[in-house]
Amino acid sequence: MIPFIDLKTQFKHLEKDIRARMDAVFEHGKYIMGPEVKELEGKLAAFVGMKHCIGCASGTDALLIALMAMDVGPGDAVFTTPFTFIATAEVISLMGATPIFVDIDPKTFNMDPDNLQLAIRALKRRDSSIYPLPVAISQELSSITPKGMISVDLFGLSCDYDRINPIARREGLFVIEDAAQGFGGEYKGKRACSLADIGCTSFFPAKPLGCYGDGGAVFVDSDELGKKFASIRVHGNGGHKYDNTRIGLNARLDTLQAAILNAKFDIFPQEINLRNQVASKYTKLLAPCPTLHAPCVPEGYKSAWAQYSVLSDRKKQIQRALKEKGIPTAVYYPKPLHLQTAFSYLGYKEGDMLVSEDCSKRIFSLPMHPYLEDNDIERICRIIDSA
Ligand SMILES: *Cc1c(COP(=O)(O)O)cnc(C)c1O
Repeated sequence: MIPFIDLKTQFKHLEKDIRARMDAVFEHGKYIMGPEVKELEGKLAAFVGMKHCIGCASGTDALLIALMAMDVGPGDAVFTTPFTFIATAEVISLMGATPIFVDIDPKTFNMDPDNLQLAIRALKRRDSSIYPLPVAISQELSSITPKGMISVDLFGLSCDYDRINPIARREGLFVIEDAAQGFGGEYKGKRACSLADIGCTSFFPAKPLGCYGDGGAVFVDSDELGKKFASIRVHGNGGHKYDNTRIGLNARLDTLQAAILNAKFDIFPQEINLRNQVASKYTKLLAPCPTLHAPCVPEGYKSAWAQYSVLSDRKKQIQRALKEKGIPTAVYYPKPLHLQTAFSYLGYKEGDMLVSEDCSKRIFSLPMHPYLEDNDIERICRIIDSA
């Protein structure tokens, strides 16, 4: 039995260090905002190349903190991709703003900058013949105006920020990088979470850098925004205990989770390299397979390989053949967000985001983790080939 993600083997490698670091927390007893949180924030900020890292309770809270700090609310449009985990667009709706979906590039599964330009133009002219818009906007000529975007580094591969950032700058929009899956990846010599105005990530156990529960972080260069994030994280705190300067959240990162992450971070860069070796091996072995499309990593990118996702018209048969041999697969994502019931109020319909809709039917992911052995990869690829 090959696990889809192998957290047990990783724990075996780190067990002594993780237990020691947790024991240290039990000794000092500072379970809320203990010294481990600051230690982690310092290490991650330096790793990513942003001035400030603010640890928080989840990747969803990281996105929420970022949107709250940017004063996003009713009347604001925030552009994002329909081919992502629900949290990315959910937080936009939660703030009372309107998510505007922008279809993906079929090669990278990330937001297509050409579509982004079309969507912005369509919204400004209130003309959904230029690009599909939420029905409410095009019909009622409501006063919704572009405010920003959340781009997603899907499956570990960053977006094309050299194209996205200039579009945003020209239009006066902020860019939040959702690197929940991209953390540890690189784009033209810079690390994920430093590629836009604000970087957000998640430490959910299955992400490239995962803790043993929920956790996340927000990254930024601006001192002013860094202060704002830290304040929003703790009930809009103004600097001392019962001084509250804004409406905020209870969104702290647990000290114990920070202690675990401090241990895991020591081997994280090696693990990213191991993931890249696993991915290269898959791609090499799957190349001759005519019914399967392996993921591409464009020149200048390094993926964090949160998932190794392939496209195939024979998806069902291949998944069944693998399952019979005890090899798990997963589908990210079987239903694009513009067709989810939760977003039906936006009025999108089938056919609005053709690439996402097509990928959702043909995509599936193979086991991916740093400890996948060569002979297991070979076995998986042989089963795929004979299916
Ligand atoms: C996992 C994930 C999130 C949410 O992270 P949580 O820590 O589970 O809240 C947001 N965006 C993307 C793209 C994700 O994969």
